[in-house]
Amino acid sequence: MKKFFLFVLAALIPLAPAFSSDKAPKNEKVKNVILIIGDGMGFSACASWMVDRHYEPTCFDRAQYVGMSKTYSANSRVTDSAASGTAMACGIKTNNSMLGVLPDGTPVTSIAELAKAKGLSTGIVVSSYVLDATPAAFYAHVKNRNDRKTIEENLIDFKPDVIVGGGRKYFVEERYVPVNMIDKAVGAGFTYVSSPDDFMIATKTPILGLFSDESYPMAIERDTDYLTDVSLHTLDILDDNKNGFFVMIEGSHIDHAAHANNAEQLTWEMEEFDKVVNAAFDYADIHKGTLVVVTADHETGGVALLPGSKDFTKSDTGIDVKFATTGHSGSPVPVYSYGASAWRFGQVMENTDIFARIKSLLIDRK
Ligand SMILES: [Zn+2]
Repeated sequence: MKKFFLFVLAALIPLAPAFSSDKAPKNEKVKNVILIIGDGMGFSACASWMVDRHYEPTCFDRAQYVGMSKTYSANSRVTDSAASGTAMACGIKTNNSMLGVLPDGTPVTSIAELAKAKGLSTGIVVSSYVLDATPAAFYAHVKNRNDRKTIEENLIDFKPDVIVGGGRKYFVEERYVPVNMIDKAVGAGFTYVSSPDDFMIATKTPILGLFSDESYPMAIERDTDYLTDVSLHTLDILDDNKNGFFVMIEGSHIDHAAHANNAEQLTWEMEEFDKVVNAAFDYADIHKGTLVVVTADHETGGVALLPGSKDFTKSDTGIDVKFATTGHSGSPVPVYSYGASAWRFGQVMENTDIFARIKSLLIDRK
């Protein structure tokens, strides 16, 4: 048995990635922040992707620091995306279903709003619809995440340089809005684009991209690297600003795959997520002063990697991805960081600390 163990270890060592935190810049001044959120992406979702890749290096192996975020909200140990998005965007714990407000309804300024006020560029890229809870937490202030009309008005008022994803029907259909909100956005100065292809050649900001009626299709339903392509073009637009930028990129469908308890969809979404995180790390490698933080708003599905047998004296009996719930769970989530001052995220933290640390590095910088 001992001999076999040594053999297995020896076989795995050449595959192990170099200990990359050796290279992490310590207190490098932060000019740009790329916050990437895997909606519903717990530790086991990340681990399922590592297993799928046969433990060859994934984006997660490449992180320079790893921390853990506690996701409970003001009124529940199991959060929704609205309260957890608000925690990361605004630095406060609020009640589930509330966006950008304290439990009593008082609005709180988001990191994106602070960045804009400081003269930085801002961007939001999602595969869900642009009014969904995670993106809206960065620009909206409503007590109810389903108050889409107010969320749209908040979006148009905030005017991020780039906001792209799905959700066209909520802007144009009479049963949601009394007036065409795309026209209103264009009237307020937005460039409107209706497909990723049109977005890829758009440069005049602010840009509103609504690429589908509801959420953009899941990775399993298309053969494009949607999230990576639109994110890289967004970075290209945002980094024209010499003051720097803040961008939030969301792998929204990880949550939807886990709600559906669909392991195959989850794998496709993790593959797409891996690509966009690696692209962001590559960007940080060549753009000094860029910090990349990769985390989740909560765990979805109670994902577990279960063996084929409970007899652990046997060699590998296979691993199945199983789900304990079709809802969210109370498990903490990982925080991976890379680039300028990445070490600030290598601890156990509250989800509100993600806001506080980004603010101290990007907004309060001298
Ligand atoms: Zn969810």
